[in-house]
Amino acid sequence: MPAKIIDGKAIAADLREKIAADVAEFHASTSVTPHLVAILVGDDQASAVYVRNKEADCAKVGIKSTLHRLPAETTQADLLELIQSLNHYPDVHGILCQLPLPAQIDEQTILDSIDPSKDVDAFHPENVGRIAQGRPRFLPCTPHGCQHLLIASGIETKGAHAVVLGRSEIVGKPLAMMLMQRGAGGDATVTICHSRTKGLSEITRQADILIAAIGKTKFVTADMVKPGAAVIDVGINRDESTGKLVGDVDYEALLDVASAITPVPGGVGPMTRAMLLRNTLTAAKLSR
Ligand code: NDP
Repeated sequence: MPAKIIDGKAIAADLREKIAADVAEFHASTSVTPHLVAILVGDDQASAVYVRNKEADCAKVGIKSTLHRLPAETTQADLLELIQSLNHYPDVHGILCQLPLPAQIDEQTILDSIDPSKDVDAFHPENVGRIAQGRPRFLPCTPHGCQHLLIASGIETKGAHAVVLGRSEIVGKPLAMMLMQRGAGGDATVTICHSRTKGLSEITRQADILIAAIGKTKFVTADMVKPGAAVIDVGINRDESTGKLVGDVDYEALLDVASAITPVPGGVGPMTRAMLLRNTLTAAKLSR
């Protein structure tokens, strides 16, 4: 039987509807409109598109958004000053600094400067620490999106062997922590693989749930996947021959092997965007 296609677009649309209702209810009881501020430094085209999409998403669910566009030559001191002022504005609930930043600015310093209670990307060390301890304030958007896809698709994580390909701070590492935690979407036995992992295929073939977040076009081939495994493809890569967006897994080939699989585009991407909205609402609630 061909794999079930996990429709991230539809699941994200359901989630947005629920968030819109929650935003309306929150506004009705507090008169507060959740407010997300995005900061975009420089002229990176992809970043500009991401930020535009985030603004459009906010509008759809009744969240206010403001964009600060700064020139590519902005200094670290100037950016820090802006973030400090946003940290202090009571009507700003979420702050997001779009990465990558120009070379003269140290990303970690900037991410560390965002007030943890407004850190809707959940990149601040305090928020990462809280996730590690199983008492999150916010969950990082992409890992949370992956976890929600599993739950919404009825894929049991409890007791499953989940193999996460990639150990980045924004996807692989937090996702592994979340899958390991007690409770819904967790309780998995987790293996994390990276570029130094030996015998990668032997490990991936043991996965009941395989999550690919490495950034390499069609890296995961059919022979690396156990028949019946659920496959979540986080990768977003540009296929050099066709110019189309493709994931980290060989989607067509895996349709005959996996029990469920996310497409690219239309899988994890829309979920990441929806989770940012949820975090912004959470931040607004926490500010009360
Ligand atoms: P990073 O480049 O930060 O991390 C990639 C990870 O993959 C690293 O841990 C690296 O190992 C590992 N890796 C690289 N090559 C191999 C290999 N041959 N075998 C095993 N592991 C390998 O990427 P991100 O986590 O930021 O992103 C991963 C992908 O997900 C990208 O395509 C990105 O565009 C996409 N993405 C998609 C999002 C969405 O919303 N759908 C959101 C964020 C990212 P090592 O640590 O040893 O270098």
